[in-house]
Amino acid sequence: LNRSLAEFGTTIFAEMSALALKTGSINLGQGFPDTDGPADIAEAAVRAIREGKGNQYPPGPGVPELRTAVAEHQQRFYGLPYDPDTEVLVTAGATEAIAAAMLALLEPGDEVIAFEPFYDSYAACIAMAGAIRVPLTLRAPSFRPDLDALRAAVTPRTRLLLLNSPHNPTGMVLTRDELAAIAELAVERDLLVVTDEVYEHLVYDDAEHIPLVSFPGMRDRTVSISSAGKTFSFTGWKVGWVTASAPLVAAVRTAKQFLTYVSSGPFQYAMAEALRLPDSYYTGLRDNLRRKRDILSAGLTEAGFELFRPAGTYFITTDITPFGEKDGLAFCRTLPERCGVVAIPNAVFYDDPDAGRSQVRFAFCKQDKVLQEAAARLQRW
Ligand code: GLN
Repeated sequence: LNRSLAEFGTTIFAEMSALALKTGSINLGQGFPDTDGPADIAEAAVRAIREGKGNQYPPGPGVPELRTAVAEHQQRFYGLPYDPDTEVLVTAGATEAIAAAMLALLEPGDEVIAFEPFYDSYAACIAMAGAIRVPLTLRAPSFRPDLDALRAAVTPRTRLLLLNSPHNPTGMVLTRDELAAIAELAVERDLLVVTDEVYEHLVYDDAEHIPLVSFPGMRDRTVSISSAGKTFSFTGWKVGWVTASAPLVAAVRTAKQFLTYVSSGPFQYAMAEALRLPDSYYTGLRDNLRRKRDILSAGLTEAGFELFRPAGTYFITTDITPFGEKDGLAFCRTLPERCGVVAIPNAVFYDDPDAGRSQVRFAFCKQDKVLQEAAARLQRW
């Protein structure tokens, strides 16, 4: 393993999902739904294969049908116009989009500011690009960003901000005021911003997802990333996309060409149909997940966890201090044996070894009865 990757072992998701299989536990660790997305959309993928659509290399930037559907989606939900030919790029999930963006936009030694806890691929992708991560810690109980600390963290070497809202694993959703302040800073210090918006449709109560790119001065400096996994419950399809100005898309595409060249064809046609589903699909998804959040929240509270109520995503971050335990990693490694439930220790998403040590994340994108059974097991133990 080369030096830039030496600090990265097996991802926590692989470790914990393997543990769930081995112990026959309920897996509330890795974030994937236990019910597939709409049957019509699955059927569209099968049809595409049967009709020979995308069975051979599709165009590098993505099939025109999907690029058009992505542009329509940005217009429909956010009033943001994008040219499907030059300003949209299809990727192998958001994961590849993040990797390609880092490899395309960073020089060795550039600094990248990201709020920790961060999704584990951020640190690895920044490292693969030879750049330096500068973490800013989001602290319980609110996990709101410290905007003064953000301003102070910008140096002449800062090249970009890597942002995620709705935020995995805390469920924090950046507010309009916070986004406006971040945008102002980016313009003032001439920074690029890469926004990971994979949970864009998973916001609850009063929270609203507002793309950072819609703020003044951001259109030409923002690379927006999303994917099909969370919105359409097909995490295994690995269809993601980038929207940005033509020069930024061209840069990211250059890197993407040599990572995967193209992304899987038939799924792209099916995703084009998915993005065009009526508003009722999107509100149904949100209502359903809000109910699941409330089921699992009640169960975890009953079991004795301290809970940080998420405004978005399908994760709940908890604290295990009430059990007299401090080490989330040790807790998660033994929880399956103790009671047959798998969770994720937030500590792995922090550079600061103390910041998230006692936090543990549970996913609620599971059938109601599975959430209820998990809660019952946690309460019995
Ligand atoms: N994003 C999902 C999570 O946070 C899992 C992704 C993965 O397995 N790499 O749980």
